[in-house]
Amino acid sequence: MKKVFLFTLSFLFTTSVYSFELRSPIKEGGLIYGKLSTGEKLYLDNQEIKSTKSGFFFLGLPQDAKILKLILVTKNEKKEMEFPVLQQKWQEEYITGLQPDKVTPTNKNQDRINKENNLIKQARNNFNENYFPFCFIRPVKNYKRISSPFGTRRILNNIKKAGHSGVDYAASIGTKIYAPADGVVALAHQDMFLSGKTLLINHGFGLFSSYSHLNYINVKQGDKVKKGDEIGQVGNTGRSTGPHLHYVITWKNVRVDPEQLITDFSCEKK
Ligand SMILES: [Zn+2]
Repeated sequence: MKKVFLFTLSFLFTTSVYSFELRSPIKEGGLIYGKLSTGEKLYLDNQEIKSTKSGFFFLGLPQDAKILKLILVTKNEKKEMEFPVLQQKWQEEYITGLQPDKVTPTNKNQDRINKENNLIKQARNNFNENYFPFCFIRPVKNYKRISSPFGTRRILNNIKKAGHSGVDYAASIGTKIYAPADGVVALAHQDMFLSGKTLLINHGFGLFSSYSHLNYINVKQGDKVKKGDEIGQVGNTGRSTGPHLHYVITWKNVRVDPEQLITDFSCEKK
């Protein structure tokens, strides 16, 4: 049992009783899970957030989020809500010695990167929503260390890049990678310019996990995977300075901190 964060809003309303809840901390790069009551609908940027029959939903906050604005719609009311977002400290990391064309790619390579990014975008459009993945596990057990946390501002060969999109687990080549939750393989690519052998898994409700620089991929597109299934091996393919797993979690294309799914979520049985 980890920390449980409960923000119940019932007290805000005098005439009716609501049980809308956010059950994880509201912070930059954070994934929130929450629960709606029967008949309640939740909107972010005019888009309805999908929830399970019992009302569970996910919500991802970008690394630079400052305020979370939500609209809760019930039978009788429309309630606009604002929540402050907890600010995080992000590390800076200097990496040198990369092949120059992988830091600032040539036009030809940039075309290839764009094409490969489109493949990933397309794969993210297929949603599978039979299962709500409350509780993720780390995809590697035998890793040496986290060589780069989520959100780290990277300076590659003295060129400033965006915050690190995921977490890097340094591990030996061949270290087994396991599915962190149930899902469907959305993409299995053998050779991407930046990410090498690449795997993408759809967990439903907007959540995807991706795995880069793999040595070997055990699954193929369309395969159903169960939490704990072996899906691949750590490698050093694509733009990589040493064997590691680059692991990314996105909610509707918003990158969130994968480690936060382990540390902030209470994994009691639902
Ligand atoms: Zn990485």
